Amino acid sequence: MPAKRPRRGREVSLPMKRLLSFFIPGGILFCAALIMIGPDTLHSLVPSVVSVAQPVILASAIFIGWRFNRSSLVFAVIILALCDRALLTWVQGFPLSAGPPRIVYHAVTLLLPLNLMVLNLMQERGFLTFRGIARISFIAIQPLIVLFFARSHPDAFLNRLTHPVMPLSLPEGVPLAQPALLAFGLALTVTAIRFMKHQGAKESGFFWVLITLLTALGAGLGAIDRMFFFAAAGFILLVSLIESSHAMAFKDELTGLPARRALKEDLLKLGNRYTLAMLDIDHFKKFNDRYGHDVGDQVLRMVAVKLAGVSGGGRAFRYGGEEFTVIFPGKHADQAHQHLEDLRREVESSRFVIRSRMRPRRKPKRIRSGSKPRKEVSITVSIGMACRDEKNTKPQSVLKAADKALYRAKKQGRNRLCA
Ligand code: GH3
Ligand code: MG
Ligand code: MG
Repeated sequence: MPAKRPRRGREVSLPMKRLLSFFIPGGILFCAALIMIGPDTLHSLVPSVVSVAQPVILASAIFIGWRFNRSSLVFAVIILALCDRALLTWVQGFPLSAGPPRIVYHAVTLLLPLNLMVLNLMQERGFLTFRGIARISFIAIQPLIVLFFARSHPDAFLNRLTHPVMPLSLPEGVPLAQPALLAFGLALTVTAIRFMKHQGAKESGFFWVLITLLTALGAGLGAIDRMFFFAAAGFILLVSLIESSHAMAFKDELTGLPARRALKEDLLKLGNRYTLAMLDIDHFKKFNDRYGHDVGDQVLRMVAVKLAGVSGGGRAFRYGGEEFTVIFPGKHADQAHQHLEDLRREVESSRFVIRSRMRPRRKPKRIRSGSKPRKEVSITVSIGMACRDEKNTKPQSVLKAADKALYRAKKQGRNRLCA
């Protein structure tokens, strides 16, 4: 009988999940800032609140970023604070008056998005390391360069900063110059592409920070409104740091599945009816010995994709090593059975294509010439399942019962499901 294919309920919702992770929290915070900045709202009633709250938010973001060892966030907030101070000192209002206000505004609007884009692309390298100090120096040198050219060649410098690069005229009242607009466009595109690749809270956070700053600087807002948006940008960075730290702690880095810590929390939320399954890859030690640890890792990732698509409302976790747990909340063993059997068959019938860089732990006796760079491998899994009943009332004891069932599945010859 042909294997029944599992229903792909979770895969269908994956784009939606990604879309949500793009908008939350950055998009929501940006929209909240837009609503609050509307007519007759907070900022116009209490400008002093904004001028006090903004430095507090930025300082808190720097402090928390330092405690969490996130140099990119700390540097981004320092850049925000520097730009805000420069604008506050030199740009009193719009239309911009000639001289320093113009130079400062156009330099800030050009450099700010580019700096944020670069920071988002860079890996965390600490603060007082060689790279950390190089980055701080790079940030510090920019205002000095602007100051130098503003003093020595003000007209030529302003000309450079505002020189049109495209045959395009911006709407009346938009003070942004074309180079700055291009810089924002480039930074937004690069950040969006990076989000599509990594789907991290940091990437979506930087994107919404850029949108917030573009709104603040492009709309030619007054000082208090602009400060408010800069505070919102700092807050978005702060919240995205907390989100990404949470994801790091609860997500397994190798497979992308929720990790043991997430399992522990979810076990506490289960009601009176649920089924748990323990799943272990068969002969994985041999597999590693034959193909190398890197290929083993690749296969773990591919198995995790199958597990993430388990049908019947199951939620998969990496328990540790090559062992996984699947939770079926609200399901009896007989309801979960078919979904687990489908999953086992799905893994059994899959051909996992592994990339060429295979480094077997033991040197092969013979190296076949003309071997293909891609290779297909197949693996199987053994599964043990148990549901909550009078004997096992606590999740930990149900998990133990599932582990015992897994042991039986292994003893009975592997590649099978035992209850
Ligand atoms: P069995 O069928 O009885 O489960 O045999 P097995 O060889 O799979 O035995 P066991 O489950 O004890 O083996 C676990 C092996 O899984 C040991 C280790 O080499 C491998 N392993 C654990 N974690 C990882 C990992 O993160 N990456 C890779 N590549 N291998 C891992
Ligand atoms: Mg094992
Ligand atoms: Mg195993």
